[in-house]
Amino acid sequence: MKKEPQHTPMMQQYLRIKAQYPDMLLFYRMGDFYELFYGDAEKAAGLLDITLTQRGTSAGGPIKMAGVPYHAAEQYLARLVKLGESVAICEQTGDPATSKGPVAREVTRIVTPGTLTDAALMEDKRDCILLALTIHETTLGLAWLNLAAGQLRVMETAPAQLVSELERLQPAEILLPESLRSAPDLRGRWTLKTLPPWQFDFDSAVRSLTRHFEAYDLSGFGCADLTTALGAANALLEYARLTQGSTALHVTSLQVVRNNIYVRMDAATRRNLEISETIRNERAPTLLSLLDTCATSMGSRLLQSWLHHPLRDLSAIQQRQDSVAGLIAHNAYSAVRDCLRHVADIERITARIALHTARPRDLSGLRDSLKLLPEAARALAACTAGNLPLLAQDLQPDPTLASLLEQAIRPEPGAVLREGNVIADGYDAELDELRALQHNCGEFLLQLETREKERTGIPNLKVEYNRVHGFYIEVTHAHTGKVPDNYRRRQTLKSAERYITPELKTFEDKALAAQDRALAREKFLYDTLLDKLSASVPVLQQTAASVAGIDVLCAFAERAQALGYTAPVFTEDTMIDIEAGRHPVVERQVDNYIPNDAQLGRQYRGGHQMLIITGPNMGGKSTYMRQVALIALLAHCGSFVPAEKVQIGLLDQIFTRIGASDDLAGGHSTFMVEMTETANILHNATAQSLVLMDEVGRGTSTFDGLALALAIARYLLTRNKSCTLFATHYFELTQLAEEFRQIRNVHLEAVEHKHRIVFLHKVTAGPASQSYGLQVAALAGVPRQAIRMARKHLTELEKHSADKTPQLDLVFDDAEADTDIEPQENPLIPMLRAISPDELTPRQALEQLYKIKQILDEQC
Ligand code: ADP
Repeated sequence: MKKEPQHTPMMQQYLRIKAQYPDMLLFYRMGDFYELFYGDAEKAAGLLDITLTQRGTSAGGPIKMAGVPYHAAEQYLARLVKLGESVAICEQTGDPATSKGPVAREVTRIVTPGTLTDAALMEDKRDCILLALTIHETTLGLAWLNLAAGQLRVMETAPAQLVSELERLQPAEILLPESLRSAPDLRGRWTLKTLPPWQFDFDSAVRSLTRHFEAYDLSGFGCADLTTALGAANALLEYARLTQGSTALHVTSLQVVRNNIYVRMDAATRRNLEISETIRNERAPTLLSLLDTCATSMGSRLLQSWLHHPLRDLSAIQQRQDSVAGLIAHNAYSAVRDCLRHVADIERITARIALHTARPRDLSGLRDSLKLLPEAARALAACTAGNLPLLAQDLQPDPTLASLLEQAIRPEPGAVLREGNVIADGYDAELDELRALQHNCGEFLLQLETREKERTGIPNLKVEYNRVHGFYIEVTHAHTGKVPDNYRRRQTLKSAERYITPELKTFEDKALAAQDRALAREKFLYDTLLDKLSASVPVLQQTAASVAGIDVLCAFAERAQALGYTAPVFTEDTMIDIEAGRHPVVERQVDNYIPNDAQLGRQYRGGHQMLIITGPNMGGKSTYMRQVALIALLAHCGSFVPAEKVQIGLLDQIFTRIGASDDLAGGHSTFMVEMTETANILHNATAQSLVLMDEVGRGTSTFDGLALALAIARYLLTRNKSCTLFATHYFELTQLAEEFRQIRNVHLEAVEHKHRIVFLHKVTAGPASQSYGLQVAALAGVPRQAIRMARKHLTELEKHSADKTPQLDLVFDDAEADTDIEPQENPLIPMLRAISPDELTPRQALEQLYKIKQILDEQC
C-alpha cells in the first residue's frame, strides 16, 4: 500500500502550534523572519500587501508562505491589530546548535486589538479598551479593561443600552459568548471574539475573581448585587492573562459603574454633538480637538473620557470647576503644563512594568518624569482650590523610587536590553568588573600591536577587531614574508592577510566571555529591578491618574482663558439659562459668530419648557440647538463654558435627534432611523432631560410628517416634560405656543437684500415669517431658470392651499392649555409608547409605521 506523504518535522511542529491558535495569525520565527504559512500566509499577504510565495513541499503539497522581517515586525503588527486581527508570536526558544530536528518554539506573546500595552502598537491619545459582555434574561453585563492603565470596570444595564454603551466606551475588541455573535446591534462595526459560554459562568467568576483580588469576598468592591457583569469580568481577565502570558495581571481593583453616575447620552447624541468624532468620522474639528491642549497623552485620553462621561454628582463637578478657577486665579497652569510637557506616559510605562515588558527607555523616561513632578507640584502649591492639593500630593511619590531608577539605569540607556548599555556604572560591582575587562581590551591591543611590530619588524602591522571575525593581526601582502611561525591565517583580503596568535586567541575568548557575561548580568539586574518596581505599581498608577487629572484641569483653565469661557452656576431646579452663548467649535470657524441666549425650564420665568425654533435653512438652527447641548455638556464635565453667563440645573440625560442619515447597512431607511431615535427619546426622556429635535418628520409625506411632529412635540411637553429645543419647518407647529404656555416660539432671522438672503444668525422671539427656501436654493447655485419656475409654482400652490392648511384641531382635538391636565389620549401615543424599536425587525417596523399612518389618515 502506498504511504500517505508525511509533513516535514518542521511543518508538523508548525501545525501543532497553529492548532492551538486557530483564529489568530501565527507569526512563526525562522531566523531573521516571522513566517506565515498556508491560509495565514494568504490572509496576511492580502492584508499587508506582502509577497505570497511557495517554497518546498510538505505532505505532498506546496507550502504557501509569506514573511515579515523580524526587526520590522512591530509595524506589521500595528497594521494587523488596526484591522481587527490578533496575532500569536511564536519564538525559537531552543538552541539551534544543540537541537535535534526543528528548534523548540513557543508562543511567547499574543497581540490582540484590545490588549495592547506596547508603545509601538498603541495610539498615544486614545485608550485601548477590551470589553466583555453577556446577557442573561433581561440583564446586560459589561466589563471593560484598560490594560495599559490597569483599570477594570463593570456595569449592569438593560440590553437596549448596548449600542449606546459601546459608543461611549469605543472598545477595540469585544469578547462575547457564541450565542450573541449574530446580535444585530453588534454587526459590522466592532471587532468581536467569541468565547465558550462557560467562561462567563457566574459561580466560577465569583470564585476566580475573589482569588484574583485576594479578597475574602467581592462585597468590598460594591458589586454584591451584580451577576452577569461578574461573569463578563472573569472572561475578560482570563483572556487578558492568556494574551499577556502572565498571571500577575496588575489589575488590583474593580469599579462598579452605576447607570446614574453620568449624564446619559445615546449613541446618536454622541455622534450628533461631535464630541470626539465629526459626523463624517473625522477627528477634527470636534469638541475634543478644540479643548485638547493637554501636555501629556495621559491628559488627552482622560479629557476624552471626561467629555464622554459628564457627571451628575454636583460636588464632583464643583470640585473640578473650583480647581479650574484656582488655576486661573493663580495663573498657575502655564508653569504646570511647561513641566508636564516633558513627562513620559507614566500610565502605560507602569502597565509595562507590571507585565515585565518595560523597555530600558521606559525606565529612563519614568525616572526623568519622577524627577520633574515635584516641580509641577511646586507650581501648584499656591492653588488650594478644589481637589488640586490632593492631586498635587500624588505628584511626589516616594523619592526612593526615583533614586533607585537613577542608580540603576544609565542616563541614556540603550534601546534594547540584549545589546546592553542599560544598567548604570556603579550599580553592581560584578557588572562593573566585567565591563572593565572589556574596556581594558583597547589598552591590551595597543600593547600587543607595539610588541608585535617590534618583534616582526613590520611597521604597518595592525591589531583589530570586527564582529564577524573577532580579533586579528593584519599584515599587508608586502610584509607577509616576515610573519612569525606562531601566526595562524584567519582571512585573506585583496591587499592583506589576517592572522591570529595563541595569545590573541586566549584574549579573545576571555573578552568575548566577559561581554556575554556582562550582558547576562545586565539582563539579570534588569529583571530584578522590574521585580522591585512592580511593588510600586499601585503608587505609580495613582501618580499617573493625578498627572492626567491635573493636565485636563490645566487644559480647561487654559482654554477658558484663551477662548473667553465663564464658570456656569448650578441651580437646584432643572433649567437652562444661557446669556450670549456660543457654539464652541463653530465659533472658531466663522469670522463673526453671533452669540445667542437660551432660556428653558419649567421654573424659568414664564416656564418655557420648549422652544419651537423656526427659520430658513442655513439660518443657524442646528448650531443654536447644539450650542445649548454642548454648553450643558461642558458644564457637567466641570469645564467653563462659551457664554457670558450660564445658570443650569443638573441634567440626567441629553438626547438629540438631528439630521437625516441612512443606515442602509443596518437595514434602516432615513425615516426609520429618525423614528427609531425618536421612539427612544419618547420612551426615556424625563423632566430632568435636555432634548434636541431637529426637523423631525421630514422623511415622509407632508401631512404624515406634520402629524408626527405635532404628536411628538406634545408628547415631549406633556409626558416627558423635558427641556426641549424643537426646530422645525412646519410653521403649523408654531401654533402650539398659543395652546401651551410652556412653549415659546423663537426664530433665526434672515433678511432679503436685493433678491439675496442674508442670515443674521440672531435668535429672536416669535415664529419666522417665511422659510426663504427658494433664496437658499439660489444661494446653493440652483440655476436661475429653475428658481424662476419654482417661484411660479409657489405662487400657485399658495393660492390653492390657502384654505387647505391642516388645522391643528383637525389633527388633535384635545387642545388643553394646561399640561398638568391629562390630555385626552390620542390612540397614536400608546402605540408609539409600546414600540420597542430595538426589538423590531425592519419589516415589523415598517408595518408599525403603516399602522401609524393609517390611524393618522383616519384622524384627519
Ligand atoms: P440650519 O440648521 O438652520 O440649517 P446651521 O445651524 O446648520 O443652520 O448653520 C448654518 C451655518 O451658519 C453654520 O455652518 C455656520 O457657518 C453659520 N452659523 C450658524 N450659527 C451662527 C452664528 N450664531 N453666528 C455666525 N454664524 C453662524
